[in-house]
Amino acid sequence: MAVVSVALDAPFHSGIGHLLSYRSAQPIAPGTLVRVPLGKREVLGVVWHDEIPQENNSELALREVLEVLDGVVPLSTSWRALMAFAARYYQRSLGEVAIMALPSALQDQSAAQWHKRLSKLSLDGGKRSARQSKSSARTKNAAQAKALSPPETIALAPMLSNAAQALPVLSKPQLTQQQQQALDAIVLEAHGVYLLHGVTGSGKTEVYLQLAERMIASDPQAQILFMVPEINLAPQWQAHIQTRFAPWLGEDCVAVMHSGLTPVQRLNEWLAVHQGRKRLVLGTRMAVLGSFAKLALVVVDEEHDPSYKQQEGARYNARDLAVWRGKQQSIPVVLGSATPSLESWYNSRAATAQTPAGSYQRLSMPARVGGGALARLRLVDMTAYPRDTVLAPSLLAAMHERITAGEQCMVLLNRRGYAPVLQCGACSWKSDCPHCSAHQVVHKADRSLRCHHCGWSTRVPHHCPRCGSVDLAPVGRGTEQLQEMLQEQLGTMVLDDGRIPQVVRIDADSTRHKGALQESLAQVHRGDVDIVVGTQMIAKGHDFRRIGLVAVVQPDGALYSSDFRAPERLFALLMQASGRAGRDAAYMQDSASSPELWLQTQEPQHALYAALARQDYPGFAALQLREREQAGMPPFSFQAILRADAKTQEGAQAFLRQVAHMAQTAGLPGHEWVTVYPPVPLTIQRVANAERAQILLESASRKALQAYLSALQPLLHQARAQAAKGLLRWLVDVDPMAI
Ligand code: ADP
Ligand code: ZN
Ligand code: ZN
Repeated sequence: MAVVSVALDAPFHSGIGHLLSYRSAQPIAPGTLVRVPLGKREVLGVVWHDEIPQENNSELALREVLEVLDGVVPLSTSWRALMAFAARYYQRSLGEVAIMALPSALQDQSAAQWHKRLSKLSLDGGKRSARQSKSSARTKNAAQAKALSPPETIALAPMLSNAAQALPVLSKPQLTQQQQQALDAIVLEAHGVYLLHGVTGSGKTEVYLQLAERMIASDPQAQILFMVPEINLAPQWQAHIQTRFAPWLGEDCVAVMHSGLTPVQRLNEWLAVHQGRKRLVLGTRMAVLGSFAKLALVVVDEEHDPSYKQQEGARYNARDLAVWRGKQQSIPVVLGSATPSLESWYNSRAATAQTPAGSYQRLSMPARVGGGALARLRLVDMTAYPRDTVLAPSLLAAMHERITAGEQCMVLLNRRGYAPVLQCGACSWKSDCPHCSAHQVVHKADRSLRCHHCGWSTRVPHHCPRCGSVDLAPVGRGTEQLQEMLQEQLGTMVLDDGRIPQVVRIDADSTRHKGALQESLAQVHRGDVDIVVGTQMIAKGHDFRRIGLVAVVQPDGALYSSDFRAPERLFALLMQASGRAGRDAAYMQDSASSPELWLQTQEPQHALYAALARQDYPGFAALQLREREQAGMPPFSFQAILRADAKTQEGAQAFLRQVAHMAQTAGLPGHEWVTVYPPVPLTIQRVANAERAQILLESASRKALQAYLSALQPLLHQARAQAAKGLLRWLVDVDPMAI
């Protein structure tokens, strides 16, 4: 008889903590999936150790492993190490993180179903490879077919090393000099972390693809992980990868991992990657937790994007885990961005500089492929116009001109502080959510008021609920109103071909239905649309061809935000927005005027806009880093948030104060280096009838903060036991994205 310790989904709160012991008739290898009893339930678990030291309880008192999901190789040591690290670093239980990382469909998969699935997959696999070899025999270009056949590739692999000419013949562009230099630097060392800092249109994607190609050619098992911040960007990326690699590795070479898959699809993709059947993996943040047969390279595109941080449950940062994973497995990790996060920028050095141990190597691509011009900045001083001016006349005139010339325009609304709240003109009543300290927002399409925090929805009233006046109107302009206004102002034009200018809106609302976003994007690509109006969503990565003018309405909010990362986000957004203009050099050369980014601002002299005008990210970063250093903010310090939700604000704060007091009395490890701030209510203080408060913990030493947080866990349980009965939840957020 054997004893195994098993990781299963139980949070710290349950008291189970990390691992539970079970007995088994046969020894079971670590990393094997099992089904075990837990209370009255039967749950999925991962065997962590195959033998544990004998404790007081005899083996016979242990419950028995019910089923073993074998037939695939166990989850690797390095995968388990990643889980253990993530759990420790983000203050969660090991089992919670490990089970979260596995596809949810595994959770109710019996051993019989599991084995049925495996045998079906191996059957399908057999059929597919037969089909593939037939189709490659039909390939017209015989030389190419030969170069591409898998056995040939394997035979080639040992003699490959750096010989580029031995790569299979795939149709791809010749790299520019700056692309080549970046690629060579990464190939040369073949491990380490690289920060690929390339302006939009500098051809980062091509570097990723050719790098992946090298890795795959030099190792017949190598797998590549491409990470994108948002599910919306996945289809475009999948097409790129598919087009490039399908002629070589077969139609089925790309696995996708994101929340848009059905549970069964996700399980199948997960298995294909675990078994090494698919060598290219495209995914959002969850993909970093995947199990790979042989991971050889990780690419994190738009590495600065806050979406890499999981904001619910176990709050992990996928970019940071990718870096950890790469270091641990000695494989290269490439972080790409036109506007890197200040953390990554601060951590990186140019190859020529003195590089401190552990720092990232910075690779720069400052020019656009084909020399396409970067957008010129036009600042409109809005102090010259009445306060309620939505679009300056000069901007409208410029848009008019572009459209007449057959170009497209994009108008971006920085959503912050701009949701249309309903207001009464007579008594200034506002559409507050009854459950939150937030406003309900007007949704014109279905005439509803909706709270974006708790989802509470009501019909738009005809009369003011407070004074009965019918003078109700939305305050603040949303994208819907912007769209209407543009249609009104420019819709009177008639274009050369007799068309009337068309405005399309792309935001979270207009794309709620499946396929709506892809359809709107297709409209833009086809040229059926003259103006695209939207939120941040349209600034990200979509490869528009004919946009000559991008305008950002009301960007200033971020300059005064209480969130210290707001300027960094604004700069990234504006650089990205300007990158949407004039992407197609050939097209834009015919155009009468060069691409432009228009900003309507009350602060035309602001240093952030001056850096933007020079397209000077390093200058902006230096400025920001100086401010952060003076204020002791990240990356010069490390932060964590301890949040509590309770029935009353006082209850939440009392709990936090109690924990802080206990921590001080106990003198937790690391406490001399950790600053504990007093409790404060969250900006959105009340959500779904829970009052929320938090304390910020800050330290110049990441290690001290980590030690402190681990020691804090038992105190949280003690404080809970002493607190008043009723609702009380807490969470720890390590490296929070907003404080
Ligand atoms: P980024 O991701 O850096 O914004 P992209 O990878 O989208 O830039 O590249 C911009 C455009 O240039 C794309 O249309 C891409 O196909 C093209 N491109 C990239 N590299 C080359 C190259 N070496 N030769 C020709 N075209 C290229
Ligand atoms: Zn009123
Ligand atoms: Zn609400």
